[in-house]
Amino acid sequence: MLGGSASSKRRLMADKNAKQPENVPGPWYVDTTCSLCRVCLDEAPNLMKYNDDQTYVYFFKQPETPEETAAAQRALDVCPTLSIGNDG
Ligand code: SF4
Repeated sequence: MLGGSASSKRRLMADKNAKQPENVPGPWYVDTTCSLCRVCLDEAPNLMKYNDDQTYVYFFKQPETPEETAAAQRALDVCPTLSIGNDG
């Protein structure tokens, strides 16, 4: 059986219905579960930054080059709370 019961539902990916509003429009986003561990900022400092209150991070720029896309993917991969998504 696939999936398991609702009571054991695990978070497997970021929630595109809970994007931080500051994310610049496009496929990459941070959702509202960001715990501000900041490891993603080390991977994608040219794409992501803190909000003004420093309570979460968001994409201020969408990746435009293969290098930037790779950086965004690394940020997604290292995020411990699965708060970074790509619905493109
Ligand atoms: S890695 Fe994830 S939880 Fe940590 S600051 Fe970035 S988006 Fe937030």
